[in-house]
Amino acid sequence: MLTITGAIAILVDETTETSGDLALEGVSASSTETLDASGCIVTPGLVNAHHHLLQSAFRTLPGTRGVAMRDWLPTMAAAYARAGVDAELAAAAASVGIAEGLLSGVTTVADHHLTWPSGADTVSIARATAGAARALGGRLVFVRGSARDDPQEAAASAEAIAEALLAELPGVTSDGMLQLAVGPAGVHSDPRETFELLGEVAVKHGLRRRTQSNEQVDTAIALEKYGKRPIDLLEEWGWLADDVTLAHLCDVTPDEIARLARAGVTATHAPGCDLPMGWGVAPVAALLAAGIPVGLGTSGGGSNDAGHLLADARLAMQVAPLVGRPLAAREVLAMAMAGSAAGLGRPELGHLRPGSAADLCVWDVSGVADAGVADPVAGLLWANPGRRPKHVVVNGQVVVRDYALVNADERELVSGLSKAL
Ligand SMILES: [Zn+2]
Repeated sequence: MLTITGAIAILVDETTETSGDLALEGVSASSTETLDASGCIVTPGLVNAHHHLLQSAFRTLPGTRGVAMRDWLPTMAAAYARAGVDAELAAAAASVGIAEGLLSGVTTVADHHLTWPSGADTVSIARATAGAARALGGRLVFVRGSARDDPQEAAASAEAIAEALLAELPGVTSDGMLQLAVGPAGVHSDPRETFELLGEVAVKHGLRRRTQSNEQVDTAIALEKYGKRPIDLLEEWGWLADDVTLAHLCDVTPDEIARLARAGVTATHAPGCDLPMGWGVAPVAALLAAGIPVGLGTSGGGSNDAGHLLADARLAMQVAPLVGRPLAAREVLAMAMAGSAAGLGRPELGHLRPGSAADLCVWDVSGVADAGVADPVAGLLWANPGRRPKHVVVNGQVVVRDYALVNADERELVSGLSKAL
């Protein structure tokens, strides 16, 4: 049993807070351990609903900042080709990205992997990424993406990955540490056939579907290529449904929001990518008002050079008054926890109720950066930008203790990535 003691606040979910001690029973901790949480706030683990872990190897790449998508894409593609995307690089980049996430409180990350060199051993890339997560102790949702891949090849690869990696539960391994999903990059990138074929793999294996939609560039290309907006295409292609999560959604109309809500689609807000790329700000308040569950994601190192979800939660809160209404800190925290988990179909993640997964963060708020804060839970976002959790627990196991990884040496992960590049 793992016991957390003396917390000044425990965020059970968006509307419930307690304080004091928290005992995690029934978890498979190898020994009885107590974590001191005096001066600390305990929250559920954060869920990063949209990342591209491979891009952790290509941050601040010259020619990718402040440029249009048509220039960004070939610059990134050339860097991938120079480095050679294989299982070794995928594992090294994922290790860095997942470790960065754990050190900033992200206990589950959805990796929308979009880069599959033609002829590559795609199962080994997926397996290497999953292995990196397992070694560090973080939960991974591996999304077999596609960005202009041959539709038949993408579907065959998704099928092979599902066959190779899945254990007992449909779409999720029995311990919940690995989940698979499918996801074309968007209607701007992939044709109807890719959406349909990946959709068939999803049905067969009980996988969730994810894509990116309504960035301004997505809307522009959809209009130019098909004379239709992305939501119309997704509807025609069978991708407006309650197992689908759409990331970005910067450029959506009130009518489109109503259609998404009716279809049961979930959303992922990614302001740390959308703002620097110049794609606008998703109308989060309107999405929430329509009853659409909204999660939070960082997107990848090609556009957002940090996988620090709490920092992006702060950003989401700060920019919210520009689109609709201000969002309260607790609303945005809930997006980064249960909101993201809802889009993954994982009701056990994102809160600390009886029966929840044993994923949590212990945030020390006793330093000067938090002094004078009247509401420490709101202060998690308003104060102390870039804060990191003191301890992180995933599936009942301590994976970050006293600000350090338990299962790996940070410097070795960094040198591993240098060697793989
Ligand atoms: Zn993205």
